[in-house]
Amino acid sequence: MISRTVRIELKSPVDADGFWRAVSSLAESRVSPDDVVFEVAGSTRDLFGVAAETMPAAHDVPLDIQPPAALKTLLAKALLHSDPERFNLGYRLLYRLKASPHLLSIASDRDVARVRDMEKAVRRDMHKMTAFVRFREIAGPAGRPAFVAWFEPDHHIVEATAPFFVRRFSNMHWSILTPRKSAHWNGETLVIGDGARLGDAPAGDPVEEIWRTYYANIFNPARLKVKAMQTEMPKKYWRNLPEASLIEPLVKAARARASAMIAAPPTVSRRPPPPAAANKNLSGGDSVEQITTLPGLAETEAHCQRCPLYANATQVVPGEGQASARLMFVGEQPGDQEDIEGRPFVGPAGKVLQSALERCGIDREDCFVTNAVKHFKYEPRGKRRLHKKPNNSEIDICRWWLDIERKLVQPELIVALGATAARGVLGKSVTIGPIRGKVLPLSSSEHVLVTVHPSYLLRIVDEEQKKTEWRAFLADLLVAKSWIEARA
Ligand code: URA
Repeated sequence: MISRTVRIELKSPVDADGFWRAVSSLAESRVSPDDVVFEVAGSTRDLFGVAAETMPAAHDVPLDIQPPAALKTLLAKALLHSDPERFNLGYRLLYRLKASPHLLSIASDRDVARVRDMEKAVRRDMHKMTAFVRFREIAGPAGRPAFVAWFEPDHHIVEATAPFFVRRFSNMHWSILTPRKSAHWNGETLVIGDGARLGDAPAGDPVEEIWRTYYANIFNPARLKVKAMQTEMPKKYWRNLPEASLIEPLVKAARARASAMIAAPPTVSRRPPPPAAANKNLSGGDSVEQITTLPGLAETEAHCQRCPLYANATQVVPGEGQASARLMFVGEQPGDQEDIEGRPFVGPAGKVLQSALERCGIDREDCFVTNAVKHFKYEPRGKRRLHKKPNNSEIDICRWWLDIERKLVQPELIVALGATAARGVLGKSVTIGPIRGKVLPLSSSEHVLVTVHPSYLLRIVDEEQKKTEWRAFLADLLVAKSWIEARA
Protein backbone atom coordinates (compact mmCIF):
# COMPACT_ATOMS: atom_id res chain seq x y z
CA MET A 1 0.00 0.00 0.00
CA ILE A 2 1.39 3.44 -0.94
CA SER A 3 0.96 5.96 1.79
CA ARG A 4 1.03 9.64 1.16
CA THR A 5 2.04 12.25 3.72
CA VAL A 6 -0.71 14.61 4.67
CA ARG A 7 0.40 18.05 5.78
CA ILE A 8 -1.97 19.87 8.11
CA GLU A 9 -1.57 23.60 8.19
CA LEU A 10 -2.67 25.24 11.44
CA LYS A 11 -3.43 28.95 11.64
CA SER A 12 -1.24 29.63 14.66
CA PRO A 13 0.81 27.83 17.32
CA VAL A 14 -2.29 27.83 19.54
CA ASP A 15 -4.80 26.72 16.89
CA ALA A 16 -6.30 23.92 18.98
CA ASP A 17 -9.59 24.30 17.16
CA GLY A 18 -7.89 23.66 13.81
CA PHE A 19 -6.04 20.71 15.30
CA TRP A 20 -9.21 19.02 16.55
CA ARG A 21 -11.07 19.53 13.29
CA ALA A 22 -8.20 18.10 11.26
CA VAL A 23 -7.53 15.11 13.48
CA SER A 24 -11.15 14.17 13.79
CA SER A 25 -11.37 13.56 10.01
CA LEU A 26 -7.93 11.93 9.93
CA ALA A 27 -8.88 9.54 12.72
CA GLU A 28 -12.18 8.71 11.03
CA SER A 29 -10.29 7.88 7.83
CA ARG A 30 -7.72 5.88 9.85
CA VAL A 31 -4.79 7.89 8.46
CA SER A 32 -1.70 6.66 10.25
CA PRO A 33 -0.01 9.22 12.51
CA ASP A 34 3.23 8.38 10.70
CA ASP A 35 1.75 9.86 7.54
CA VAL A 36 0.71 13.19 9.05
CA VAL A 37 2.82 16.31 9.42
CA PHE A 38 1.53 19.40 11.23
CA GLU A 39 2.74 22.81 10.28
CA VAL A 40 1.94 26.21 11.73
CA ALA A 41 1.27 28.83 9.06
CA GLY A 42 4.25 31.10 8.66
CA SER A 43 6.64 28.83 10.56
CA THR A 44 9.80 27.59 8.89
CA ARG A 45 9.65 24.01 9.96
CA ASP A 46 11.79 21.76 7.80
CA LEU A 47 9.76 18.88 6.44
CA PHE A 48 12.85 17.15 5.03
CA GLY A 49 11.48 17.54 1.56
CA VAL A 50 8.61 15.08 2.03
CA ALA A 51 6.16 14.93 -0.83
CA ALA A 52 3.07 16.09 0.97
CA GLU A 53 -0.48 16.91 0.20
CA THR A 54 -1.37 20.08 2.12
CA MET A 55 -4.66 20.07 3.91
CA PRO A 56 -5.59 23.30 5.67
CA ALA A 57 -7.39 22.70 8.96
CA ALA A 58 -10.86 23.67 7.82
CA HIS A 59 -12.47 25.73 10.57
CA ASP A 60 -15.93 25.54 9.11
CA VAL A 61 -16.37 21.77 9.11
CA PRO A 62 -18.08 20.07 12.03
CA LEU A 63 -16.11 17.71 14.26
CA ASP A 64 -16.58 14.13 13.03
CA ILE A 65 -15.74 12.56 16.35
CA GLN A 66 -16.01 13.51 19.98
CA PRO A 67 -12.49 13.16 21.39
CA PRO A 68 -12.25 11.48 24.79
CA ALA A 69 -12.68 14.09 27.51
CA ALA A 70 -9.49 13.05 29.34
CA LEU A 71 -7.41 13.54 26.20
CA LYS A 72 -9.07 16.88 25.49
CA THR A 73 -8.24 18.06 28.98
CA LEU A 74 -4.62 16.95 28.73
CA LEU A 75 -4.13 18.45 25.30
CA ALA A 76 -5.80 21.74 26.21
CA LYS A 77 -2.50 22.59 27.91
CA ALA A 78 -0.04 20.18 26.22
CA LEU A 79 -0.77 21.66 22.79
CA LEU A 80 0.54 25.01 24.12
CA HIS A 81 3.97 23.42 24.66
CA SER A 82 6.80 24.75 22.51
CA ASP A 83 7.79 21.25 21.30
CA PRO A 84 7.08 21.21 17.53
CA GLU A 85 6.10 17.54 17.85
CA ARG A 86 3.16 18.30 20.12
CA PHE A 87 0.49 18.10 17.43
CA ASN A 88 1.80 14.77 16.11
CA LEU A 89 1.89 13.41 19.62
CA GLY A 90 -1.68 14.57 20.19
CA TYR A 91 -2.86 12.87 17.01
CA ARG A 92 -0.91 9.69 17.78
CA LEU A 93 -2.62 9.46 21.16
CA LEU A 94 -6.04 9.97 19.64
CA TYR A 95 -5.33 7.30 17.03
CA ARG A 96 -3.96 4.82 19.55
CA LEU A 97 -6.88 5.40 21.93
CA LYS A 98 -9.19 3.81 19.35
CA ALA A 99 -7.41 0.48 19.84
CA SER A 100 -6.56 0.93 23.54
CA PRO A 101 -9.27 2.95 25.29
CA HIS A 102 -7.35 2.77 28.61
CA LEU A 103 -4.10 4.02 27.11
CA LEU A 104 -4.02 7.22 29.19
CA SER A 105 -3.87 5.25 32.42
CA ILE A 106 -0.66 3.47 31.36
CA ALA A 107 1.88 5.74 33.00
CA SER A 108 4.86 3.84 31.53
CA ASP A 109 3.74 4.42 27.93
CA ARG A 110 6.18 6.83 26.28
CA ASP A 111 3.54 8.93 24.54
CA VAL A 112 1.44 9.16 27.68
CA ALA A 113 4.42 10.08 29.84
CA ARG A 114 5.49 12.71 27.32
CA VAL A 115 2.07 14.35 27.02
CA ARG A 116 1.73 14.45 30.80
CA ASP A 117 5.17 16.08 31.12
CA MET A 118 4.21 18.63 28.50
CA GLU A 119 0.93 19.42 30.22
CA LYS A 120 2.73 19.88 33.53
CA ALA A 121 5.39 22.13 31.99
CA VAL A 122 2.70 24.36 30.46
CA ARG A 123 0.76 24.55 33.72
CA ARG A 124 3.92 25.52 35.55
CA ASP A 125 4.78 28.14 32.94
CA MET A 126 1.27 29.64 33.26
CA HIS A 127 1.59 29.72 37.03
CA LYS A 128 4.98 31.43 36.76
CA MET A 129 3.51 34.05 34.47
CA THR A 130 0.74 34.87 36.94
CA ALA A 131 3.31 35.05 39.72
CA PHE A 132 6.27 36.82 38.12
CA VAL A 133 4.79 39.42 35.85
CA ARG A 134 5.85 42.79 37.19
CA PHE A 135 4.03 45.79 35.85
CA ARG A 136 5.84 49.08 35.47
CA GLU A 137 3.93 52.30 35.37
CA ILE A 138 4.01 54.55 32.31
CA ALA A 139 1.94 57.56 31.33
CA GLY A 140 -1.03 56.15 29.45
CA PRO A 141 -3.55 57.87 27.18
CA ALA A 142 -5.36 60.90 28.63
CA GLY A 143 -2.94 61.11 31.53
CA ARG A 144 -4.19 57.82 33.01
CA PRO A 145 -1.47 55.55 34.33
CA ALA A 146 -0.88 52.44 32.25
CA PHE A 147 1.18 49.43 33.23
CA VAL A 148 3.60 47.47 31.09
CA ALA A 149 5.32 44.20 31.96
CA TRP A 150 7.91 42.03 30.26
CA PHE A 151 7.79 38.27 30.60
CA GLU A 152 9.56 35.40 28.84
CA PRO A 153 7.38 32.32 28.80
CA ASP A 154 8.79 28.96 27.76
CA HIS A 155 5.60 27.97 25.93
CA HIS A 156 2.70 29.46 23.96
CA ILE A 157 0.76 30.56 27.02
CA VAL A 158 0.02 34.26 26.54
CA GLU A 159 -3.54 33.85 25.21
CA ALA A 160 -4.38 31.23 27.82
CA THR A 161 -3.01 33.24 30.76
CA ALA A 162 -4.17 36.72 29.78
CA PRO A 163 -7.74 36.20 31.15
CA PHE A 164 -6.23 35.79 34.63
CA PHE A 165 -4.79 39.32 34.39
CA VAL A 166 -8.05 40.67 32.98
CA ARG A 167 -9.91 39.35 36.03
CA ARG A 168 -7.27 40.49 38.48
CA PHE A 169 -6.48 43.91 37.02
CA SER A 170 -9.76 44.75 35.35
CA ASN A 171 -9.53 48.40 36.38
CA MET A 172 -6.04 49.00 35.05
CA HIS A 173 -4.84 49.58 31.50
CA TRP A 174 -1.98 47.16 30.95
CA SER A 175 0.19 45.36 28.42
CA ILE A 176 2.19 42.21 28.93
CA LEU A 177 4.95 41.97 26.36
CA THR A 178 6.63 38.67 25.55
CA PRO A 179 8.87 37.54 22.70
CA ARG A 180 6.07 35.33 21.31
CA LYS A 181 2.91 37.41 21.73
CA SER A 182 1.69 40.42 23.68
CA ALA A 183 -1.54 40.94 25.57
CA HIS A 184 -3.12 44.39 25.89
CA TRP A 185 -6.08 45.37 28.09
CA ASN A 186 -7.72 48.80 27.96
CA GLY A 187 -10.27 48.20 30.70
CA GLU A 188 -12.77 46.75 28.20
CA THR A 189 -11.10 44.72 25.48
CA LEU A 190 -8.32 42.19 25.47
CA VAL A 191 -6.16 42.29 22.36
CA ILE A 192 -3.50 39.72 21.58
CA GLY A 193 -0.77 41.24 19.42
CA ASP A 194 2.64 40.38 18.07
CA GLY A 195 5.64 39.59 20.19
CA ALA A 196 7.93 42.33 21.44
CA ARG A 197 11.53 42.87 22.51
CA LEU A 198 12.84 43.44 25.99
CA GLY A 199 13.77 47.00 25.04
CA ASP A 200 10.09 47.77 24.33
CA ALA A 201 9.24 47.42 28.02
CA PRO A 202 10.16 50.04 30.64
CA ALA A 203 13.04 48.96 32.87
CA GLY A 204 11.60 50.30 36.10
CA ASP A 205 9.22 52.80 37.60
CA PRO A 206 9.05 55.05 40.66
CA VAL A 207 6.75 52.55 42.39
CA GLU A 208 9.49 50.03 42.63
CA GLU A 209 11.31 51.83 45.41
CA ILE A 210 8.04 51.86 47.40
CA TRP A 211 7.51 48.21 46.59
CA ARG A 212 11.03 47.33 47.73
CA THR A 213 10.41 49.14 51.02
CA TYR A 214 7.08 47.35 51.42
CA TYR A 215 8.65 43.99 50.58
CA ALA A 216 11.45 44.55 53.10
CA ASN A 217 8.85 45.48 55.75
CA ILE A 218 6.62 42.49 55.24
CA PHE A 219 9.47 40.00 54.82
CA ASN A 220 9.06 37.63 57.74
CA PRO A 221 12.43 36.13 58.67
CA ALA A 222 10.79 33.51 60.90
CA ARG A 223 8.96 32.12 57.86
CA LEU A 224 11.96 32.00 55.56
CA LYS A 225 12.45 28.76 53.63
CA VAL A 226 15.28 29.43 51.21
CA LYS A 227 14.99 26.15 49.25
CA ALA A 228 11.24 26.44 48.78
CA MET A 229 11.66 30.06 47.78
CA GLN A 230 14.24 29.23 45.11
CA THR A 231 12.17 26.36 43.73
CA GLU A 232 9.15 28.61 43.54
CA MET A 233 11.03 31.60 42.18
CA PRO A 234 13.79 30.31 39.87
CA LYS A 235 16.59 32.76 39.22
CA LYS A 236 15.64 33.14 35.54
CA TYR A 237 12.71 35.32 36.64
CA TRP A 238 14.72 37.52 38.96
CA ARG A 239 15.75 40.14 36.44
CA ASN A 240 12.12 41.23 36.17
CA LEU A 241 11.55 41.39 39.90
CA PRO A 242 12.22 44.69 41.68
CA GLU A 243 12.44 42.90 45.02
CA ALA A 244 15.07 40.45 43.74
CA SER A 245 17.91 42.79 44.68
CA LEU A 246 16.70 42.60 48.29
CA ILE A 247 16.48 38.85 48.55
CA GLU A 248 20.11 38.09 49.28
CA PRO A 249 20.63 40.73 52.01
CA LEU A 250 17.27 39.87 53.61
CA VAL A 251 18.05 36.16 53.60
CA LYS A 252 21.45 36.86 55.14
CA ALA A 253 19.92 38.96 57.92
CA ALA A 254 16.99 36.60 58.49
CA ARG A 255 18.52 34.35 61.11
CA ALA A 256 19.50 37.25 63.37
CA ARG A 257 16.09 38.92 62.93
CA ALA A 258 14.23 35.71 63.72
CA SER A 259 16.23 35.22 66.94
CA ALA A 260 15.51 38.81 67.96
CA MET A 261 11.77 38.25 67.34
CA ILE A 262 11.78 35.15 69.52
CA ALA A 263 13.68 36.91 72.32
CA ALA A 264 11.41 40.00 72.29
CA PRO A 265 8.73 40.24 74.99
CA PRO A 266 5.13 39.67 73.83
CA THR A 267 2.86 42.63 73.27
CA VAL A 268 0.30 42.83 76.01
CA SER A 269 -2.31 45.35 76.92
CA ARG A 270 -0.92 47.86 79.37
CA ARG A 271 -4.21 49.35 80.43
CA PRO A 272 -6.93 47.79 82.52
CA PRO A 273 -10.44 47.55 81.01
CA PRO A 274 -12.58 50.70 81.42
CA PRO A 275 -14.93 50.86 84.37
CA ALA A 276 -18.18 49.38 83.12
CA ALA A 277 -20.32 51.31 85.60
CA ALA A 278 -19.88 54.54 83.63
CA ASN A 279 -22.59 53.45 81.19
CA LYS A 280 -26.08 54.83 81.51
CA ASN A 281 -27.40 52.36 78.97
CA LEU A 282 -26.07 49.81 76.53
CA SER A 283 -25.77 52.27 73.71
CA GLY A 284 -23.18 54.26 75.63
CA GLY A 285 -25.44 56.80 77.28
CA ASP A 286 -26.44 59.50 74.84
CA SER A 287 -29.10 59.12 72.21
CA VAL A 288 -28.12 59.53 68.58
CA GLU A 289 -29.60 63.02 68.39
CA GLN A 290 -27.44 64.23 71.27
CA ILE A 291 -24.26 63.25 69.44
CA THR A 292 -23.49 66.06 67.05
CA THR A 293 -19.70 66.12 66.82
CA LEU A 294 -16.93 63.58 66.34
CA PRO A 295 -15.28 64.40 69.71
CA GLY A 296 -18.71 64.02 71.33
CA LEU A 297 -19.12 60.69 69.61
CA ALA A 298 -15.71 59.46 70.80
CA GLU A 299 -16.59 60.51 74.33
CA THR A 300 -19.83 58.54 74.26
CA GLU A 301 -18.30 55.52 72.54
CA ALA A 302 -15.70 55.27 75.30
CA HIS A 303 -18.44 53.92 77.57
CA CYS A 304 -19.90 51.44 75.11
CA GLN A 305 -21.14 48.15 76.52
CA ARG A 306 -23.44 47.32 73.64
CA CYS A 307 -21.82 43.89 73.29
CA PRO A 308 -19.47 41.87 75.52
CA LEU A 309 -16.33 42.84 73.58
CA TYR A 310 -15.76 45.92 75.74
CA ALA A 311 -14.95 43.73 78.73
CA ASN A 312 -11.57 42.47 77.53
CA ALA A 313 -10.45 45.37 75.35
CA THR A 314 -8.19 48.09 76.67
CA GLN A 315 -10.38 50.82 75.27
CA VAL A 316 -12.73 51.68 72.48
CA VAL A 317 -10.99 52.74 69.25
CA PRO A 318 -13.08 55.47 67.64
CA GLY A 319 -12.81 56.54 64.02
CA GLU A 320 -10.26 59.21 63.27
CA GLY A 321 -10.13 62.03 60.73
CA GLN A 322 -11.86 65.07 59.37
CA ALA A 323 -15.60 65.59 59.75
CA SER A 324 -15.36 67.06 56.23
CA ALA A 325 -13.69 63.98 54.76
CA ARG A 326 -15.12 62.88 51.41
CA LEU A 327 -13.51 59.47 51.62
CA MET A 328 -14.07 57.10 54.55
CA PHE A 329 -12.09 53.89 55.07
CA VAL A 330 -13.76 51.21 57.16
CA GLY A 331 -11.67 48.33 58.53
CA GLU A 332 -12.67 45.28 60.53
CA GLN A 333 -11.79 45.95 64.17
CA PRO A 334 -8.80 47.37 66.06
CA GLY A 335 -5.80 45.06 66.38
CA ASP A 336 -3.45 44.59 69.30
CA GLN A 337 -1.58 47.84 68.70
CA GLU A 338 -4.69 49.87 67.93
CA ASP A 339 -6.27 48.64 71.17
CA ILE A 340 -3.27 49.89 73.12
CA GLU A 341 -2.90 53.22 71.33
CA GLY A 342 -6.62 53.90 70.93
CA ARG A 343 -6.21 54.80 67.23
CA PRO A 344 -7.31 52.86 64.14
CA PHE A 345 -4.86 51.38 61.68
CA VAL A 346 -1.60 52.11 63.44
CA GLY A 347 -0.29 48.50 63.53
CA PRO A 348 1.01 46.26 60.72
CA ALA A 349 -2.19 46.40 58.66
CA GLY A 350 -2.16 50.17 59.13
CA LYS A 351 1.35 50.31 57.66
CA VAL A 352 0.21 48.40 54.59
CA LEU A 353 -2.75 50.74 54.24
CA GLN A 354 -0.52 53.77 54.66
CA SER A 355 1.93 52.53 51.97
CA ALA A 356 -0.96 51.92 49.61
CA LEU A 357 -2.49 55.34 50.27
CA GLU A 358 0.85 57.03 49.67
CA ARG A 359 1.37 55.06 46.51
CA CYS A 360 -2.01 56.19 45.21
CA GLY A 361 -1.53 59.79 46.25
CA ILE A 362 -4.26 59.68 48.90
CA ASP A 363 -3.52 61.64 52.06
CA ARG A 364 -4.81 59.84 55.16
CA GLU A 365 -5.23 63.25 56.78
CA ASP A 366 -7.95 64.06 54.26
CA CYS A 367 -9.88 60.88 55.01
CA PHE A 368 -11.87 59.41 57.84
CA VAL A 369 -10.53 56.05 59.00
CA THR A 370 -12.58 53.78 61.20
CA ASN A 371 -13.61 50.19 61.88
CA ALA A 372 -16.84 48.20 61.66
CA VAL A 373 -16.26 47.01 65.23
CA LYS A 374 -14.77 49.39 67.75
CA HIS A 375 -13.32 47.04 70.37
CA PHE A 376 -10.47 44.57 69.90
CA LYS A 377 -11.70 40.98 69.94
CA TYR A 378 -9.00 38.48 70.76
CA GLU A 379 -8.20 35.18 72.35
CA PRO A 380 -5.54 35.15 75.08
CA ARG A 381 -2.80 32.67 74.23
CA GLY A 382 -0.20 32.76 77.03
CA LYS A 383 0.90 36.35 77.13
CA ARG A 384 -0.18 36.97 73.55
CA ARG A 385 -3.53 38.20 72.32
CA LEU A 386 -4.58 36.51 69.10
CA HIS A 387 -6.94 38.43 66.84
CA LYS A 388 -10.39 36.86 66.61
CA LYS A 389 -12.81 37.75 63.85
CA PRO A 390 -15.93 39.54 65.08
CA ASN A 391 -19.14 37.62 64.48
CA ASN A 392 -22.17 38.94 62.60
CA SER A 393 -24.00 39.93 65.74
CA GLU A 394 -21.04 41.97 67.01
CA ILE A 395 -20.74 43.68 63.63
CA ASP A 396 -24.45 44.42 63.54
CA ILE A 397 -24.53 45.77 67.10
CA CYS A 398 -21.52 47.98 66.45
CA ARG A 399 -23.12 49.43 63.30
CA TRP A 400 -24.81 51.79 65.75
CA TRP A 401 -21.49 53.70 65.98
CA LEU A 402 -20.57 53.38 62.35
CA ASP A 403 -23.93 54.82 61.34
CA ILE A 404 -23.36 57.83 63.57
CA GLU A 405 -19.91 58.32 62.05
CA ARG A 406 -21.48 58.18 58.58
CA LYS A 407 -24.13 60.68 59.63
CA LEU A 408 -21.57 63.13 61.03
CA VAL A 409 -18.98 62.80 58.27
CA GLN A 410 -21.32 62.25 55.32
CA PRO A 411 -18.61 60.69 53.15
CA GLU A 412 -19.21 60.58 49.42
CA LEU A 413 -17.40 57.27 49.14
CA ILE A 414 -16.82 54.58 51.75
CA VAL A 415 -14.03 52.11 51.05
CA ALA A 416 -14.94 48.91 52.88
CA LEU A 417 -11.78 46.95 53.62
CA GLY A 418 -12.73 43.29 53.75
CA ALA A 419 -15.86 41.26 54.45
CA THR A 420 -16.48 42.52 58.00
CA ALA A 421 -16.32 46.13 56.87
CA ALA A 422 -18.61 45.34 53.95
CA ARG A 423 -21.19 43.84 56.32
CA GLY A 424 -20.82 46.80 58.66
CA VAL A 425 -21.48 49.25 55.84
CA LEU A 426 -24.06 47.30 53.81
CA GLY A 427 -25.91 45.65 56.69
CA LYS A 428 -25.60 42.22 55.09
CA SER A 429 -22.88 39.73 54.24
CA VAL A 430 -21.56 39.86 50.67
CA THR A 431 -19.03 37.95 48.59
CA ILE A 432 -16.28 40.40 47.81
CA GLY A 433 -15.15 39.00 44.42
CA PRO A 434 -18.02 40.08 42.17
CA ILE A 435 -18.33 43.61 43.56
CA ARG A 436 -14.70 44.28 44.31
CA GLY A 437 -13.25 47.56 43.04
CA LYS A 438 -16.59 48.94 41.82
CA VAL A 439 -18.18 52.15 43.03
CA LEU A 440 -21.76 51.27 44.02
CA PRO A 441 -24.45 53.73 45.16
CA LEU A 442 -25.75 53.41 48.73
CA SER A 443 -27.97 56.48 48.56
CA SER A 444 -28.15 59.58 46.41
CA SER A 445 -25.13 61.00 48.22
CA GLU A 446 -23.20 58.03 49.53
CA HIS A 447 -21.32 55.32 47.62
CA VAL A 448 -19.29 52.28 48.58
CA LEU A 449 -16.31 50.47 47.09
CA VAL A 450 -15.48 47.08 48.54
CA THR A 451 -11.95 45.73 48.44
CA VAL A 452 -9.81 43.36 50.49
CA HIS A 453 -8.47 44.09 53.96
CA PRO A 454 -4.79 45.09 54.07
CA SER A 455 -4.07 42.30 56.56
CA TYR A 456 -5.04 39.85 53.79
CA LEU A 457 -1.91 41.02 51.99
CA LEU A 458 0.13 40.38 55.13
CA ARG A 459 -1.15 36.83 55.46
CA ILE A 460 -0.26 35.67 51.94
CA VAL A 461 2.79 33.43 52.21
CA ASP A 462 3.67 33.20 48.53
CA GLU A 463 5.73 36.32 47.84
CA GLU A 464 4.65 36.48 44.21
CA GLN A 465 0.98 36.25 45.00
CA LYS A 466 1.53 38.96 47.59
CA LYS A 467 2.88 41.24 44.90
CA THR A 468 -0.01 40.49 42.56
CA GLU A 469 -2.55 41.18 45.31
CA TRP A 470 -0.76 44.37 46.26
CA ARG A 471 -1.17 45.66 42.72
CA ALA A 472 -4.84 44.70 42.74
CA PHE A 473 -5.33 46.52 46.05
CA LEU A 474 -3.64 49.63 44.61
CA ALA A 475 -5.86 49.40 41.54
CA ASP A 476 -8.96 49.42 43.77
CA LEU A 477 -7.74 52.42 45.74
CA LEU A 478 -6.95 54.22 42.49
CA VAL A 479 -10.55 53.68 41.40
CA ALA A 480 -11.69 55.29 44.66
CA LYS A 481 -9.30 58.19 44.20
CA SER A 482 -10.22 58.82 40.55
CA TRP A 483 -13.92 58.63 41.37
CA ILE A 484 -13.61 61.19 44.17
CA GLU A 485 -11.47 63.47 42.03
CA ALA A 486 -13.89 63.27 39.13
CA ARG A 487 -16.66 64.59 41.42
CA ALA A 488 -14.62 67.45 42.88
N1 URA B 1 -7.29 46.05 61.23
C1 URA B 1 -8.42 46.75 61.14
O1 URA B 1 -9.38 46.33 60.51
N2 URA B 1 -8.50 47.91 61.75
C2 URA B 1 -7.50 48.43 62.41
O2 URA B 1 -7.66 49.50 62.94
C3 URA B 1 -6.31 47.68 62.48
C4 URA B 1 -6.23 46.49 61.89
